Amino acid sequence: MEPKRALQVQVRNLSLRYPGGVQALRDVSFELYAGEALGIVGESGCGKSSLAGALVGDIPGAEEVTGQVVLRGPGGSEEGAVDMLGATRAVRREIWGKRVATVYQDPRASLNPSYTIGDQIAEAVQRRPNLAPQGVRERTLDLLRQVRIAAPETTALRYPHQLSGGQQQRAVIAMALAANPDLLILDEPTTGLDVTTEARILDLVDELRCEVNASIVFITHNLAVIAQVADRIGVMYAGELVEIGDVERVFAAPAAPYTAGLLSCIPRVDRGSGPSRRLRTIPGAVPSPGERPRGCVFMSRCPFAQERCGAESPDLLPVEGVEHLARCFRVDEVRRVGWPQDRQRRHESSGPAEGDEPVLIGRGISKRYGRVARKYALFGPVTQRPVPAVSDISFTLGKGETLGIVGESGCGKSTLLSCVAGLVRPTEGTLAMGANALAPAVRERSPALLHRMQMVFQNPDLSLNPRHTVGRIVDRAVQVLEEPSDRRKRRARVADLLNRVGLGDHYWDRHPSELSGGEKQRVAIARALAGHPDVVLADEVTSALDVSVRAEILNLLCDLQAEEGISYLFISHDMSAIRHVSHRVMVLYLGMVMEKGPVEEVFRPPFHPYTEALMSAIPAPDPTVTTRRIRLDGEVPGTRPTGCPFHTRCPRCVGR
Ligand code: SF4
Repeated sequence: MEPKRALQVQVRNLSLRYPGGVQALRDVSFELYAGEALGIVGESGCGKSSLAGALVGDIPGAEEVTGQVVLRGPGGSEEGAVDMLGATRAVRREIWGKRVATVYQDPRASLNPSYTIGDQIAEAVQRRPNLAPQGVRERTLDLLRQVRIAAPETTALRYPHQLSGGQQQRAVIAMALAANPDLLILDEPTTGLDVTTEARILDLVDELRCEVNASIVFITHNLAVIAQVADRIGVMYAGELVEIGDVERVFAAPAAPYTAGLLSCIPRVDRGSGPSRRLRTIPGAVPSPGERPRGCVFMSRCPFAQERCGAESPDLLPVEGVEHLARCFRVDEVRRVGWPQDRQRRHESSGPAEGDEPVLIGRGISKRYGRVARKYALFGPVTQRPVPAVSDISFTLGKGETLGIVGESGCGKSTLLSCVAGLVRPTEGTLAMGANALAPAVRERSPALLHRMQMVFQNPDLSLNPRHTVGRIVDRAVQVLEEPSDRRKRRARVADLLNRVGLGDHYWDRHPSELSGGEKQRVAIARALAGHPDVVLADEVTSALDVSVRAEILNLLCDLQAEEGISYLFISHDMSAIRHVSHRVMVLYLGMVMEKGPVEEVFRPPFHPYTEALMSAIPAPDPTVTTRRIRLDGEVPGTRPTGCPFHTRCPRCVGR
C-alpha cells in the first residue's frame, strides 16, 4: 500500500480583492500534500496568477485578503506551520527561497545577467545554514545535474545570455530547488518556450516530482500540460475554483461545464481532424473581475444553465467521494452528456478543385543575410559567408486551400512569410499570384496585387492602433483597400465585415483595450478581409490566445475559407492547430523543407524524423495516452551543418 503523504499546504476560504471592487479570488479552498503536483488551469483573467501570489503571501496592491494559506512545518508537522497571509513581511522573507520557491514564465527576469549561473545557484544554496564552501560547490553542481544540464562544471561558469531559453529555465528550476523547498510554484514555466524545449522542461518537471518531496503547484492555460505533469487538477473560472480532482478522473468525465468546455476546445494532433471538422468552443468571455454576475459565474456561457443558476451560486461539492469536487448544480448531466457541439453551421472546405490554377506560387525562394567578406585576423584572412535563412523553397497554394508551415523558432517560417509578403527581399527565387509575377519588395507591387494578399499577425495588441475605435480601424482598411465610396456605403461595409468575423456592429465605438484577445484578433481578421483578399498570410495567429479563443479563431478561419474561398499560408509552431486547419503541410528546419505533403500523409507514419520529434513534443490532452517520447538534443544550430541539416540532432542519424 502506498504510504500516506503528509499534508503540506492548506488553503482555506481564500478571497482577494483589489481596489475598484476587482474580486480576483473568491472562496478558494484546497489542500496539497507533500510530493504531490496540483495543476491549476483556466483562461486569462480567471485568477491563476493571483492564486500563485497568494500562496506565497506576495500580493502587492491587494485591498482586502481573507482566508488562510497555511504552510505546515517540515514533513507536514503542526510545529513551524505559518499562515502566509497573516505572517509579517520579515517572516515571509525568511520563508521565501527556503521553504517556498517560485519559477516564473520568463527565466531572464529571474536571472541576474552580470553573475554566472553557478554563482547564482550557489547564492541560493547558501541560504541553507552550516554549509562549507566545498559543500556549496558540490551542491551547485548536483543541482545542475538534477535539472539535466549537460557538462555542469562548464555551464556553471557561463552567464545567462550564453545559455539557451531552455537551459536558462533549467537553471532557474535548479535555483528554486536549492533549498529543498516544501512548496514549489511553477507559474507558466513553459509558455514562452519553443515546442521541443517545452517538451524537455515538462519531462524534467515530471521526473522531479518523483524525485523531490515538495508540493508542486503548476499553473498553466494548457490542459494538455496538466495531463502530463500533475496528479490533481484545479480549474479556475472568474476567481473561483470550479472543479478539483484527480487528473485521470476529471479528464475522463469532467463534472463542471467549464472544464468540459475547455477539454473539448483542444484540437488533437493524435486524431484526424482537418478543416472540415469544427472545433467546439465556449461562447462569450470571462466576466471582468469587477463584474460579478448574480448566481453562478459561468451562467452566461453555460449550455446547461437553468433558472436556479441565475438565483443561487453553487457550492464546491463532492462528485465522487471527497477527492473530486465541482461547483455546479447539474454535475450528473454534465458528466453524462459532455460539452455540446456548436450549434453554428459546419464549414466544409475541401481545398482546391481539380484543375484550378494556384493562386500563389513560390519557386526556389532563398534568403541569405550578409555578404561574403574577408577579414584579416591574427592568424591570417578569415572568410565570412552569408547566413542562409531559407533555401530553395518552392510551393503552390490553391484557391480555398491552407498550406500549414511548421517548425521550431529559427527554422525560417517567418522569413519565408516575410519574403512572400514583400517585407524581406528574397536573395533568389520568384513569386507569382496566378498569372501575375509578384515584385520582391512590397512597395514595387501594384495596389491590385497588394489588395489580394493580406497578413494577420500573432499579437493583435501590436497590430491594432490603441487610440482608434474598432470602427475606425476597419473603416480605414476599407478606405485604403477598396474603391473609395461614400461614407454610408463604407459604414455598411464595415458593419458587414464585423458581422462576418462574429462581432456585431455594436463593437464600432470600442477601443482595442476594451476587447478580449480573441475579439482583437477578430478585428485584425476583419481588417485583412477588407480588400477581398485571395490569400491571407497568418503568422502564428492563435499562439497568444487562450484555448477556447484559439478554437473560435480556427473555426472562423475555416468558415471564412469555406464561404469566400480564401487561401491561407498558415504559420505555426503548434502541430495540433496545423493539423486542424491545413490541407497540406510543409515542415521547415534551418530554412530547408524537411517534409511536405497532404496533411493526412505528413501526420501518418512513416514520418520524417524531425516531423516525428515535433509531433512527439506535443503533450496529449489525455493522461491515459502514453506517446513515444522523442526528444531532440540542444537547440536549432546557429549555422547549418554539412550533409543533412538535421543530422546533428536526429535520433535516427546513421553512422553516429
Ligand atoms: S450551476 Fe448552472 S450555470 Fe453554473 S455551471 Fe452548473 S449548470 Fe452551468
